[in-house]
Amino acid sequence: MTALTGHEASVVDGVGKQLFIGGKWRDAEGAKTFDVEDPSTGKVIAHVADASEADGKAGLDAAVAAQDDWARTPPRDRGEILRKAWQLITERADDLALLMTLEMGKALAESKAEITYGSEFFRWFSEEAVRVAGRYSVAPAGSSRLLTVKQPVGPCLMITPWNFPLAMGTRKIGPAVAAGCTMVVKPASLTPLSMLALAGILTEAGLPDGVLNIVTTKSTGKVMEPLIRDARLRKLTFTGSTEVGRSLIEQSAEGVLRVSMELGGNAPFLVFGDADLDKAVEGAMLAKMRNVGEACTAANRFIVHESVAEEFGRRLAERMGALSMGRGTEDGVEVGPLVEAKQRDKVRELVDDAVQAGAKVTVGGKATEGDGYFFQPTVLTDVPRSARMFKEEIFGPVAPIFTFGADEDGLAMANDTEFGLVAYLFTQDLNRAVWAYEGLETGMVGVNQGIVSNPSAPFGGVKASGFGREGGVEGIEEYLETKYIGIAL
Ligand code: NAP
Repeated sequence: MTALTGHEASVVDGVGKQLFIGGKWRDAEGAKTFDVEDPSTGKVIAHVADASEADGKAGLDAAVAAQDDWARTPPRDRGEILRKAWQLITERADDLALLMTLEMGKALAESKAEITYGSEFFRWFSEEAVRVAGRYSVAPAGSSRLLTVKQPVGPCLMITPWNFPLAMGTRKIGPAVAAGCTMVVKPASLTPLSMLALAGILTEAGLPDGVLNIVTTKSTGKVMEPLIRDARLRKLTFTGSTEVGRSLIEQSAEGVLRVSMELGGNAPFLVFGDADLDKAVEGAMLAKMRNVGEACTAANRFIVHESVAEEFGRRLAERMGALSMGRGTEDGVEVGPLVEAKQRDKVRELVDDAVQAGAKVTVGGKATEGDGYFFQPTVLTDVPRSARMFKEEIFGPVAPIFTFGADEDGLAMANDTEFGLVAYLFTQDLNRAVWAYEGLETGMVGVNQGIVSNPSAPFGGVKASGFGREGGVEGIEEYLETKYIGIAL
């Protein structure tokens, strides 16, 4: 029994809750399940298969068995499957968005935006599947010919987080399918339903048995580690926290796996003294409030020139204070709950710490009473650099404003973090923009824009934000090996 009724219940009922292995739905060992909650009510909405170590191994067995045939499948056929899946997702966007909102909490409009963004990786990589090429050249001495070919890496393990339940999967599945790799996917246990729905759609689109296997589990470390250490696995791709990423890199050393890591962020949002404040405030709303702030790309530190800090803070607070908060499924709601109590409590702790250190609450500042894990959209001004949120990822709807005088100090503050995923900068001076984006230690920069995610661009970070790129022409390379053949004449 679950807490849902009507269309919400039928959307959740329509999704497989078992493990998806070798093209078949099956129970976990001992028919074990775990609960999935609606974060806006805290009530259970589904029971999903809880895989054991043996179940996890069965997933990899299926991926390994399917690898050779899949690698030989014509690229055009692989691309057409992705294209068809993109079409099906687009046709069913409303129900998929509702499913996502029910398991993750964000407002329906946000879920729809993720469905569009996530499905576009399939369309993009359906086009890339047929553009994989090698090289042919004459050796400098003229005595031989050099040929390079690209081949699929082989079976992959994909571990994804809860904050974008669909897109963090499609960013990996799309290029792997295009390149000819098979895979085991382990979605976050807080939000497994969107990925399970995707398995159904890819099957309908014609994906052969065993190419995609979904293993849901609550015993995450115990089930994943043996797979990572299994000599048949060739690649690990992970999106999640830096802490977990570090331990997975260590585990991957045993098999010397190809590894991609999309880890945590601490994005600076730099507003220079000459910035167009209309654009900066608009960009700030996007960079902060997309996904209720639960995004690795979320602006974590607003670093604002002292000459415009007061006006920027006031205008941002007006906009943040006007947002309507509630259950994400309801009309007009712009801000849903955070994903779980732990996340809400962490946000509260970071805000309390900043206030104790001297920050002023301009708007918001509190968790709301009652059901669900809500936290008010919040703006903090006069935040000292000693506040924990200068160094730690907030992952919630809280905008702390720090100030700077000289441009060099602003840039130094932006780079004063172990993370390096994305930065945003606002200025009307081209020279200042070039100087700043060249000096920022991040994998991505938004210039006068508060969002950078785009399936046709390489997404990824440097420093403790990870390595590897998803999307763009670079995305498929993560799933390809280069083989060189020397031909003697
Ligand atoms: P997380 O706790 O690291 O979990 C991510 C995934 O790893 C989940 O599927 C989780 O499974 C799994 N996991 C946890 N412990 C594991 C272990 N010992 N071995 C193998 N897998 C394990 O992160 P999260 O809280 O879900 O996501 C938020 C973090 O992701 C933030 O730091 C955010 O910045 C980062 N993120 C980065 C990007 C990017 O592209 N750079 C994008 C989105 C999010 P369970 O759910 O079962 O625990």
